[in-house]
Amino acid sequence: MPFCGKQAMEILEKLAFTRCAGTPEEEKAAEIICEEVKTLGLEPQIEEFDVLTYADDEAWVEVLQPYEAQYQCSALGLSGSTPDEGIVAPLRYVETGQPEYLNHIAGKIILASQGGGFKAYEKAKKEGALGRIFIGQAGRDTPNVALNRCIRDRLGTLPTAYIKYEHALEMIKREASEVRLHVHQKEYWSKSRNVIAEIAGTHEPEEVIVIGAHYDSVYRNQGAHDNGAGSATIAELARYFAQNPPRRTLRFIWFGSEEMGLMGSWAHVEKQRNGLEKYVFMVNVDVAGGIIGSNSASVMGSDKLVNYLDVMGNELSRDLRVNQSIYSGDCIPLGYENIPSVTFSRGGGGTSYIHAPGDTLEHIDAEHLELLGEIVLEFTRRIANAGTFPFPREIPERIKKDIRDYMERGGRKPEKHPNK
Ligand SMILES: [Zn+2]
Repeated sequence: MPFCGKQAMEILEKLAFTRCAGTPEEEKAAEIICEEVKTLGLEPQIEEFDVLTYADDEAWVEVLQPYEAQYQCSALGLSGSTPDEGIVAPLRYVETGQPEYLNHIAGKIILASQGGGFKAYEKAKKEGALGRIFIGQAGRDTPNVALNRCIRDRLGTLPTAYIKYEHALEMIKREASEVRLHVHQKEYWSKSRNVIAEIAGTHEPEEVIVIGAHYDSVYRNQGAHDNGAGSATIAELARYFAQNPPRRTLRFIWFGSEEMGLMGSWAHVEKQRNGLEKYVFMVNVDVAGGIIGSNSASVMGSDKLVNYLDVMGNELSRDLRVNQSIYSGDCIPLGYENIPSVTFSRGGGGTSYIHAPGDTLEHIDAEHLELLGEIVLEFTRRIANAGTFPFPREIPERIKKDIRDYMERGGRKPEKHPNK
């Protein structure tokens, strides 16, 4: 097979360090990708954009009544900071933290098992909560993720920490009634960047297929599955197509700042607005490489494409689970511009550690990078070289609605598309 898992693994090993949006480490990762691209004889381009990011984040919760304890937490990035001495307030456990549960929380700190999303945040702010504590997954470290930028821009900050499931359980069972919440972080504007490399089509150069993967990670995290592995996968595709020029143009994009709310791909569609009509399709790779796992394809496109992938999976004798649904990743901004996509992903197994310190190289090997990589390469080879593009450039109404709903949950106001 033309996809070499060993070479992809070597690239992944070079990228296995924290690469958080707008930091010097993210920039270093972009440089490593540029170097890889240059070894293929391609000229990388940098697409720079501004990003709001954060550093020096820390959080903890002290229980003051009816018992005393202190629990280490992680801060929700961009959620703001408490005063140095923290905030002391009554604690209220509000189940999933959805709007239905957010009554009588004025002057309180709320403890919730979920609570993400624009509506929950809006209600928590409106009702006068002073802070939020989100509960992590059982048996896992707390995640290091950021508040969606659009939610923050519209509603402002509300200091929020993630607590371990086991600690939250203890607080609920022992009826913790008064707590002190500490959330500290430094926010600042910085630069982030997408890395772009193009291989011109031999026959249909005006038809451009985007091959995307985000290369940033969250804090305290090697971002091995998510998405060093996807970045290495598309680098390996670039190697193949540099040696085997495709009929259609392939534009490889390693997106920055995805974990900060898809900032790289939103920036890309803005900056390339005049060239988007050339984009016929996007192949996205997000989360890959797990030794234990299963391959999936999330289709934001036509029924024809779903069938095509099903048939191809059978032809290759690969278990590829094809679903027609949105994927929370860089395919969303392109989907909003009516560019259909498929996101290849390898979930299960060690991917339950993603967005937390456990997303490390130890879960990944060359053989399993190759397992998904071969599927991605074969699919891309077929659509890039087909005489006629094999499925329509369209997204079904149902998926379009899901994209708009997704954007609303994330606080982004979907505006009417200028072409409709
Ligand atoms: Zn990801």
